[in-house]
Amino acid sequence: MAEQIETGCCIAGGGPAGMMLGYLLARQGIDVTVLEKHDDFLRDFRGDTVHPSTMQVLHELGLLEAFLERPHERTEKVSLYLEGKPYKIVDFRYLPVEARYVAFMPQWEFLDFLADEARKLPNFRLMMSTGADELLVDEGRVCGVWATSGEMTYEIHAPLVVAADGRASTLREAAGLALEEKGAPIDVLWFRLPRQFEEGGNQSLGYARAGGFLVTINRGDYWQCALIIEKGCEAGMRAAGVEAFRSRVARIAPHLQGAVEAVTSLDEVKSLDVQVSRLNCWWREGFLAIGDAAHAMSPVGGVGINLALQDAVAAARILEADLKAGSVRHETLEAVQKRREWPARITQSAQIFAHERILTPALKANGMLKPPLFVKLLNAVPMLRRLPARAIGLGPRPEHWQGD
Ligand SMILES: Cc1cc2nc3c(=O)[nH]c(=O)nc-3n(C[C@H](O)[C@H](O)[C@H](O)COP(=O)(O)OP(=O)(O)OC[C@H]3O[C@@H](n4cnc5c(N)ncnc54)[C@H](O)[C@@H]3O)c2cc1C
Repeated sequence: MAEQIETGCCIAGGGPAGMMLGYLLARQGIDVTVLEKHDDFLRDFRGDTVHPSTMQVLHELGLLEAFLERPHERTEKVSLYLEGKPYKIVDFRYLPVEARYVAFMPQWEFLDFLADEARKLPNFRLMMSTGADELLVDEGRVCGVWATSGEMTYEIHAPLVVAADGRASTLREAAGLALEEKGAPIDVLWFRLPRQFEEGGNQSLGYARAGGFLVTINRGDYWQCALIIEKGCEAGMRAAGVEAFRSRVARIAPHLQGAVEAVTSLDEVKSLDVQVSRLNCWWREGFLAIGDAAHAMSPVGGVGINLALQDAVAAARILEADLKAGSVRHETLEAVQKRREWPARITQSAQIFAHERILTPALKANGMLKPPLFVKLLNAVPMLRRLPARAIGLGPRPEHWQGD
């Protein structure tokens, strides 16, 4: 026998999109239930970047100070080491916002912070270890979900179900929404290196040489590293063994030669199958997809978390009146897609451009990499570094919170 729950909005997925939307709806006085299939937020590395536009929303919500009390690293400027030579390419310090830097905060800290703030609100319910399995449909309209937690089964009824269940969303499939794959020619390998062997500075940085790109993120006592490889190369790389892997990393970033010895098995190296995809239609009656469930992003620019959060802010604002009235019109769902599809589309186009014109040629190159003209210009003219800062730090159509 399933336990029956009635709620004003059921959100499947307690990632950045789902937690932010749950918090904002509850703050608006709407009864909201967030389902998260895992029992905590502390899982594998899933990205750390909290962008200036997100922190501006936190500022508008009166949460920025408390957020910044959580452990994080601030990056005001970004440099790229190309064939060992540093190029200054991004400067966030002149953005017209409260926090003029990217905060690198472990995602579980951020989600835990949002959960703590949301739990202070009486009409917010977070059900951990609870997976949304199937949609409840009545005369073609989604009216809730079946969910399970261990032995327990729940029949959750709501005027709106939001799929914030990430890039492998099962609910969007259950809703019959068509996904368009845009393709991605790269994959990313994730691993950690101890920082005590490191001889350089402590900034999170990018390194590029012919045949390889490496990003290192300062996580206190270790570097969280991302090695970008051509799609389809992973099996060959694993077959070549750990010694070849270490040499590859040390060739791209020679100062990590000592640290990379700490990788003793390729089991320590995790892979991310990079996808770029987008739903043609983000909704059907009683159902809406946001965040990665609506548009999976490439890791280029580290903007996936930011876009997911911005979707949540726009959705909370646009849905408020209908959810308070207890019925969500299809025009309202359409309005959410209309508002957020354009930023997702523009960002994905820029990422695809970077895949095709910058990353792939560099990964296939045999000789020394030459800096592209725009990299030379950014390095030579400090004012120009404000442009990529705006594109990455604020993104197209940054959302704001003007309510209570
Ligand atoms: C290895 C890796 C590194 C990344 N690095 C970065 C980075 O540096 N910067 C950046 O901006 N982005 C990064 N990303 C992308 C970023 O993590 C996503 O874009 C962002 O988390 C999307 O947020 P979301 O809330 O839409 O989905 P997710 O974060 O994927 O959250 C979905 C949540 O739904 C839960 N869930 C799934 N199915 C169900 C279900 N049926 N019922 C209940 N719960 C369910 C999942 O457990 C998860 O908690 C990275 C991703 C990966 C995998």
